[in-house]
Amino acid sequence: MHIDISKDALAWQKIARAYADNYLLPHEVEAELNDGVLPAEITRRNKERAIELGFTAIDVPRSHGGLELPMESQVAIWEQLGRVTNALSWCFPEAQSWMFDACSGEQLEKYILPMMRGEHKECYAITEAGPGSDISGLEATATRDGDDYVLNGEKWYVTSANLASFFWFQARLPDEDDEALFLVDQGTDGIEMIANPKFSHTYASHHPTYLFTNVRVPASQRVGKPGDGMSFTHSWFRHERLMIGARSCGAAARLIEEAMAFANERMIDGAPLSEKQAIQFMLADSVTELYASRLMTYEAARAADRGDDLKAQHSRCSMVKLYVSEMANRVADRAVQVFGGRGYMRENVAERFFRELRVDRIWEGTSEIQRLIIARSLLKRGLDGM
Ligand SMILES: Cc1cc2nc3c(=O)[nH]c(=O)nc-3n(C[C@H](O)[C@H](O)[C@H](O)COP(=O)(O)OP(=O)(O)OC[C@H]3O[C@@H](n4cnc5c(N)ncnc54)[C@H](O)[C@@H]3O)c2cc1C
Repeated sequence: MHIDISKDALAWQKIARAYADNYLLPHEVEAELNDGVLPAEITRRNKERAIELGFTAIDVPRSHGGLELPMESQVAIWEQLGRVTNALSWCFPEAQSWMFDACSGEQLEKYILPMMRGEHKECYAITEAGPGSDISGLEATATRDGDDYVLNGEKWYVTSANLASFFWFQARLPDEDDEALFLVDQGTDGIEMIANPKFSHTYASHHPTYLFTNVRVPASQRVGKPGDGMSFTHSWFRHERLMIGARSCGAAARLIEEAMAFANERMIDGAPLSEKQAIQFMLADSVTELYASRLMTYEAARAADRGDDLKAQHSRCSMVKLYVSEMANRVADRAVQVFGGRGYMRENVAERFFRELRVDRIWEGTSEIQRLIIARSLLKRGLDGM
């Protein structure tokens, strides 16, 4: 499916496609049947190749040794990595541009630049059981005590914490009438994993629950300056929501191709299944929705590259996340139907995506929360402000 993207984005698309096809895709079923875990040497090889290709540095400013790719090219990469199930593309850490705005020189040296080199891995401890979607109501606290902060709180769904070397921990600062992110080393006294539930997908990255009890960190681990509040967390949300759109486009493209290949081969009543109009309509709806999704995702990426108004970008990233994640879920559902009983087997890509894509309607803000963001923006700023 052709859409007009830059030469740079096309070149990166090709690189990421070759990496996905040669390094990740051949190991999907093996991962699925082994709790998401691949042999250590394969994971190491995949990570090393990703670093060699520059994937850990695509969003890092050139002044810090990164590639500083336009968002359009970053979307082209993540779209191709989205073709792969079992989160096999999460084998490398990702230093993001907002971290360079947020972090002090010392924090960059200690956490972010090592991430770019693949030496550190991060996880995000933001969500809590009580406030849930309403992150303005977070209950975790950070209290100043001399040169330290003392952190307390229970954080749910901390993705990749089982593999991470440090946490981004979001807390209220009751004494300062503020809120902030903190960088906290894994293994600091007072951090306890209190649950590690199983989820629908089969990933090596788990989503455990952590209890922080009087966790003492130097004040220099606080990110940003007083008053920055949740602004960096919002930057992270914008980035992730756009990349969920990119990955969902890649997943949908793969599902359409695989379902079409099966429908061409499978003989029913002496003719290929693909000759049945019922099947053609499912493919037609899927490819039409994919076309719309790719157009909006790449346009939102270009808006970031143009430096469009930040509030408009914020609502556009929500629109991308809402529409494209829901599109991919519809496409996965149809793909399972095209495969019939085979589509319900865990070794089938449609079955895996059917489970895996579901969470894209939940994390980084549920579909309902995206609708609230979009509606509020529309009511406040009008269509011209979107
Ligand atoms: C696998 C997985 C990995 C995750 N990884 C991370 C992570 O790494 N770090 C992290 O911090 N968080 C993570 N999350 C948390 C995720 O972001 C939250 O689950 C999500 O934001 C929803 O919050 P909640 O689960 O508390 O749902 P709730 O807020 O309890 O929502 C329940 C339902 O109510 C709806 N709802 C809530 N408020 C409103 C409203 N105002 N109007 C209308 N409907 C509403 C929701 O849309 C949802 O349908 C992860 C979650 C999952 C499932």
